[in-house]
Amino acid sequence: MTKKKQDTLIVTTGRDPEANFGIVNPPVYHASTVLYPTLEAVKNRTQPVTYGRRGTPTTFALQEAIAELEGGYKTALTSSGLSAVTTALLAFLKAGDHLLMVDSVYQPSRHFCDNVLTRYGVSVEYYDPLIGDGIEKLVRPETKVIFTESPGSVTFEVQDIPAIAEVAHRNNITVMLDNTWASPLYFKPFEHGVDVSIQAVTKYLCGHSDVMMGSITTNEAAWTKMLDTHGAIGQCAAPDDVYLVLRGIRTLSTRLERHMKTGIALAEWLKNRPEVARVLHPALPGDPGHALWKRDFTGACGLFSIELKPCSEKALAAFLDGLELFGMGYSWGGFESLVIPQYPGKMRTATGWNAQGQVLRFHAGLEDIGDLIADLEAGFERLRAAES
Ligand SMILES: *Cc1c(COP(=O)(O)O)cnc(C)c1O
Repeated sequence: MTKKKQDTLIVTTGRDPEANFGIVNPPVYHASTVLYPTLEAVKNRTQPVTYGRRGTPTTFALQEAIAELEGGYKTALTSSGLSAVTTALLAFLKAGDHLLMVDSVYQPSRHFCDNVLTRYGVSVEYYDPLIGDGIEKLVRPETKVIFTESPGSVTFEVQDIPAIAEVAHRNNITVMLDNTWASPLYFKPFEHGVDVSIQAVTKYLCGHSDVMMGSITTNEAAWTKMLDTHGAIGQCAAPDDVYLVLRGIRTLSTRLERHMKTGIALAEWLKNRPEVARVLHPALPGDPGHALWKRDFTGACGLFSIELKPCSEKALAAFLDGLELFGMGYSWGGFESLVIPQYPGKMRTATGWNAQGQVLRFHAGLEDIGDLIADLEAGFERLRAAES
């Protein structure tokens, strides 16, 4: 068969019914101890399954599926999206090294850099997400990793990944990407020069707001280095959770299409509201990241932000507290709509954030678009009533 299209791959990858009594989905293996038949097998570790933490046929199935969808060489699983970020960074950095970290990065990733990496003698420098090939000016002989997140998951700047990768590779630097926003479906990291791609599997791959997991996928050159540290620090993922993610992946394409459609419709509607100063969504024509998004991405997920025009805290609370369909909570990528206030001014050091109004991050869930808009419309009425 010729190379499978993505929607076919999503159905066929990471399963082998013939090897499992014809059963469609891979079985869940719970394992710590794995027995070896002979002394020779113990000494040479020739069998594919050696110890629970090192993976079972259940974890191998998900690893294969994510590696295929991301277009990478192989994938390792971790206990959360954040631990995928920290494990990847620990694998490629040592005392004396210099890390270039994007200023729009997920805040807990920034916290790890500032509070743990620095403690181990790594120097961390933040850069403007819009820097492109200008990153060359920041490269030092000891720069070992350039970390990207595109678009940034609060402020949605799209990075010029191919331009950054070109500079990085000319200088022997590893390029990492937190690819959670696009998921493996809408941005192909390895076709754009990324060496190490990270997913917060917790988000769309799981898709049902109940599992914490991360993945690290690399190209062939980066694999051994990453896996050595992943194994050394004891990363693994739990079998029942792995099963839930394998199940979630089968509907990823169908779900994402709907998240995208509803997200764009909500963003367009919000853009025309008098209470809204600005919408931050790269799939909207006119967004500063739109041209790059169009060049490099094949879709958008349901996550975007808006900046409100300045209003009182009381009016903001009236808007948010009364919403019925948009829950207020962290994380995203599940079936339900969410909204959460964000404070980008407190999460940046290399670039400023001068906006006066409150930033709200929305996740467009799978509900009816008319109901979602009605919920927001009622919210804006409460906001206006509280201001007058
Ligand atoms: C949520 C998130 C993470 C962390 O994932 P957890 O599973 O919550 O640890 C990392 N990066 C991005 C962009 C995220 O949105």
